[in-house]
Parts: sequence; structure tokens; C-alpha cells
Amino acid sequence: MIDEKKAQTLKVIKLSLKGLARQGVFPQSDMDEFQAALDSATEYFSSDGISPEEYQRLAMRTAADGVDWGNVGLGLAGESGEVADAIKKHLYQGHTLDLPHMKEELGDVLWYVALACKCGGFSMADVMRGNIEKLKLRFPDGFSAERSRGRDK
Ligand SMILES: [Mg+2]
Repeated sequence: MIDEKKAQTLKVIKLSLKGLARQGVFPQSDMDEFQAALDSATEYFSSDGISPEEYQRLAMRTAADGVDWGNVGLGLAGESGEVADAIKKHLYQGHTLDLPHMKEELGDVLWYVALACKCGGFSMADVMRGNIEKLKLRFPDGFSAERSRGRDK
């Protein structure tokens, strides 16, 4: 369910931006960007999602003091291993792929990603943006196996 405060905020943003657009504040050449921004704001405010900043803040509530890259590396490997083990058991041992369990384990991986960000002093949002930018440069037209094989690294 959409938070009432989010819904009101979105309504104010939409009305403000549409009013500015009607007054010709935005040049016609910016209208695509304007619409994309409006769509993005709509998607964000309409979701029940959690922002990267909010996740990082809430997750690190349970991080111990004095964590270091050793905690990060071993924790990431351990939780990733739990995901890999569930897939292995599904593919080769006839286990049902327990999706709620997978979801939980992916959350554990994410928690260690947040811990890595804490150790590195960067935000999860920056990591996410950086990854998307890298992928856009690497695969501007979407993934291509041929382009992937042609990469140096
Ligand atoms: Mg786990």
C-alpha cells in the first residue's frame, strides 16, 4: 500500500511540474527528460520499495563495531555460498528450489554489500549508479554475448 505521505508528495510534485510545463518553463527540447523524470518520480513514490539509503541505514543498525574487509569478504562468500548451495541442490540433487529461502539468502548477501559500503565509506546508491553506468557503457544496446566475448575485462 502506498504511504499516504508519499502519495501526497507525488501529487504535489506532479501538479507543480505540470504547471511549470504548461507555463512553458521547460523548453520543448527538455520535455522528454521532464517526462522521464516525472515517470521516475511516479515509480519511486508509487512503490512500497525501500530506498538504498534507507536500506543501508536500517541494515547497518545490526552491524558490529569495528567491522573490516575481512568480515565483508568472508560474509559475502558465505552468504553467496548459501545461494549457490541451494541452486546446486536443486539442479543436481532433486531438491525443490525454495524461492522464499532464496529470497532470504539474497537479502543476507545484500546485507554484506551494505557492510562493504560502510567499510568503503560509500553509499549503496553510488554503487548502484556506478554499476548501471558501467553496464550502459559496456552494453549500450543491452547484453550481447558477442560483445561480452570481445571485452578485455
Ligand atoms: Mg544466510
